[in-house]
Amino acid sequence: MDVHEYQAKEILARYGIPVPRGGLAYSPEQASYRCTELGGDAWVVKAQVHSGGRGEAGGVKVCRSDREVHDVANGLFGTRLVTRQAPGGKPVYRVYVEEASDIARELYLALVLDRASEKILVVASSEGGMEIEELAERDPDAVIRSVVEPAVGLTSFQAREIAFALGLEAGQIAQAAKLFQSAYRAFRDLDATMLEINPLVVTGEGELVAVDAKMSFDDNALFRHPEITELRDRSQEDPRERHASDRGLAYVGLDGDIGCMINGAGLAMATMDMIKLAGGEPANFLDIGGGASPERVLKAFRAVLNDKAVRVMLINIFAGINRCDWVAEGVVAAFGQIDVTIPVVVRLAGTNVEEGKRILRESGLPIITADNLAEAAQEAVTAARAAVPA
Ligand code: GDP
Ligand code: MN
Repeated sequence: MDVHEYQAKEILARYGIPVPRGGLAYSPEQASYRCTELGGDAWVVKAQVHSGGRGEAGGVKVCRSDREVHDVANGLFGTRLVTRQAPGGKPVYRVYVEEASDIARELYLALVLDRASEKILVVASSEGGMEIEELAERDPDAVIRSVVEPAVGLTSFQAREIAFALGLEAGQIAQAAKLFQSAYRAFRDLDATMLEINPLVVTGEGELVAVDAKMSFDDNALFRHPEITELRDRSQEDPRERHASDRGLAYVGLDGDIGCMINGAGLAMATMDMIKLAGGEPANFLDIGGGASPERVLKAFRAVLNDKAVRVMLINIFAGINRCDWVAEGVVAAFGQIDVTIPVVVRLAGTNVEEGKRILRESGLPIITADNLAEAAQEAVTAARAAVPA
């Protein structure tokens, strides 16, 4: 789960990381009022959307008067901010108004879960501001990587080493090391999967300040952090994924036209590969999980068809804990309750497969059946091609 910048900053501030003073606004009037509250003579208006790259998309603007803050906010509210990371755009319902920072240097700091080492990895660079992918490509040696041993945590020695590698001045080393350790504590305590401070700013006075902040959290650990769960902003989520997650279904939205209902993430991955190999593109995949009842299959059916780009539906079930007869019953029930206008390809294997196939056969429904994964993918791609007007 992702949170907004201002929420991430509130969290970091609780862990002792300096952030600029700011206030949230839901209207242009409230935004300009924030200037009076904050004082000073320069402010930054920042669109709160779950995406980076807001600056270059026009979502971050430095303003010199409360009038200007009002007008910038007015221009942002109700629009969709299209960024490099969110080509479909994300709706702007909140803006954050901050006192402008006096930026002398921009650094990059991130903590991520590194799958290769299976540990938390600190990534830092003395060239902040731009995106890390861009940085890694332009100058890979400028990216500092430091793996944290979970048993000891981020030691002050290791934190200082990172600070030195960033070329910070002697007076800033202790401050930076403490900040890195605080960031690590926040990451670990809250089961984060990503924490990015870009830019981490060195001000004219030589102080370190987190001018931007991004955090993502492990969905499977949210039960331990009700205060984080409350930060969820549904307006920022893919509506297709939201519909499915509201019904307890694991769903991933993609860009193609073949909708997929599969049991198990591993089989889903294999199915995506087979569809691609057959020359098709998946529109989504929905994992119905183990022990799927006919009701659950029906819900999953609705979630997949909810995506208007879907031209064919592929159901691929390898039943271990699941039962093919239940899945088949769910499919038949779905045809009874939903107006299914697209071709449906079904491949069943495993527990009660013969019974499952019999149910489908005797239903008299126009279901395309396949005996293995390759055949199922091929049938789906063929049907998708036929469905696309040439
Ligand atoms: P992002 O584009 O979504 O990553 O948003 P950021 O919060 O990182 O802002 C983008 C850029 O705007 C930063 O890299 C800074 O260069 C600039 N910026 C943000 N806040 C301030 C500020 O307080 N003062 C100044 N001068 N520039 C800022
Ligand atoms: Mn940024």
